[in-house]
Amino acid sequence: MDSSSILAAQFIILVVFSVTFLLTAWNNRELSYCNRWAGANMGLALGIGLILAGRIFTLPLPLFYLMVNTALIGGLCLLRNGAAAFHKVSLSPLRSYWGLGLVIAVTLSINIGTSPSQSYIVFNLVALVLSGETLRFYIRGRLDSLRSRWGLVLSFSLLSLSFTIRLSLHLAGQFGLETTTIDAWLMPLHLGLVLIFVSANGAFSLALIFERIAADHKAAAARDPLTGVFNRREFFARLHSLLGNKAHGAFSVILLDLDHFKQINDKLGHSAGDLVLQISTSTMQQNLSGKDCLARIGGEEFAILLPGATYAQAYRCAERIRIAVQNMPLPFASGAVHLTVSAGLYHGTGKGLTPTDILRLADERLYASKNSGRNRISVVQAA
Ligand code: GH3
Ligand code: MG
Ligand code: MG
Repeated sequence: MDSSSILAAQFIILVVFSVTFLLTAWNNRELSYCNRWAGANMGLALGIGLILAGRIFTLPLPLFYLMVNTALIGGLCLLRNGAAAFHKVSLSPLRSYWGLGLVIAVTLSINIGTSPSQSYIVFNLVALVLSGETLRFYIRGRLDSLRSRWGLVLSFSLLSLSFTIRLSLHLAGQFGLETTTIDAWLMPLHLGLVLIFVSANGAFSLALIFERIAADHKAAAARDPLTGVFNRREFFARLHSLLGNKAHGAFSVILLDLDHFKQINDKLGHSAGDLVLQISTSTMQQNLSGKDCLARIGGEEFAILLPGATYAQAYRCAERIRIAVQNMPLPFASGAVHLTVSAGLYHGTGKGLTPTDILRLADERLYASKNSGRNRISVVQAA
C-alpha cells in the first residue's frame, strides 16, 4: 500500500469513530469523555485529511504546518484529556493544553528563526509525552478490571514506540549518524503503526465505554435505590454462592426488622420514614466489616450475611447494631419518637439447607423476638 492509501484509510477510520463517539455521547449525556474522544478522532482526521490535501493542492507551507500540527496535537491532547476524564481525574486547562500551546508557538516561530528540524523535534517530543501520559492513565486505572483497557495500553504503547523511533533517529541524524537508508522505511513504518493505532484505539475505547456501562448497571442492579445497601436478589445470590462453595465453614445470617416502623410513617410522613430507613442502614453498615453483606430485603427488613463469623462474633455484631439503632438520633423527631430493631440470628454451616430455608429459620427467630417484647435478638444454632 502506498502512503496516500494508508493516510486515506486512517482518515476514513477516524471519521467513522468520531461519528460513533458523537452518537454514543448523544445518547449518554453523562459520558463527558466520549465527547473528548469524538473531538480527538475529528482532530486527528482533520490533520491527516490536511496532509492528504497537501499532496493534491499546494498550500502555503507555514499555514499548512500550523494547521496540521494544531489538528494532530489537539487530537492527542483530547485523547489524553478523555483518558483522564474516563478515570475521573480533572486536569487544569494548562495541564490539558500545554502541548498544543507549545507546538503552535514553535510552528509559528519557524518564520522567525526556529528551524524545521527543531519544530519536528518539538512536535514528536510533545506527541510522545501525550501518548505516554495517556498510556499511564490506562495502566493506573487497571484495578477496575475492565479488560478492554489492555487493548488501549497496547495501542498507546505502539504509538509511543513510533514517536520514540522517529525522535531517536532524527536526533541520531543531527549528531551525524547515517540515517538515509533508515529514512526510506521510517515513514511507512510510522504510517503503518498509526493505522494500527487509530483502528485499535477507536475499537478498544468503544469496548471500554460499554464495559464500563455494563459494570455500572450490574453494580446498580445489586443495590437498593433508597438506601444504597445490597438488595434481596444480591443477598440471595451471595448466600447461594457461599453455600455452593464446598470449602465454606460456619457462617451467620442476621435478619432485622425495625419495630413499629409504621408509626414513624403515620406520625411524621412517608418521606421522614424514608430518611429513617437511610439513617438505619448507615448505622448498621457502620457496625459491620467490609466482608459482611448488608441487604434491604423488604420494606423495613434487613439481612446481614457474615461469612466465616463465629457464633459469638455474630451475636456481638447483632447486639452492637441493636444498641446503635436504639441510640440513633432521629434529627427531625421529638424526644418521644424512638426506634428499635428486633433480630433473628442463624448460625451454622447451612448443611442440607437452601438460602430460603436459612432465611425462614432466621425469620422464625425474628418473630420470637417480636412476640417476646421487641428490641431483642433470638438465635438458632444449627450444625
Ligand atoms: P413491627 O414492629 O411488627 O415490625 O411493626 P411495623 O410497623 O414495623 O411493621 P408493619 O409491617 O406493620 O409496617 C411496616 C411499614 O413499613 C408499613 C410500610 O408503609 C412501611 N414501609 C415499607 N417500605 C417503606 C419505604 O420504602 N418507605 C417508607 N417510608 N415506609 C415503608
Ligand atoms: Mg417492622
Ligand atoms: Mg416488617
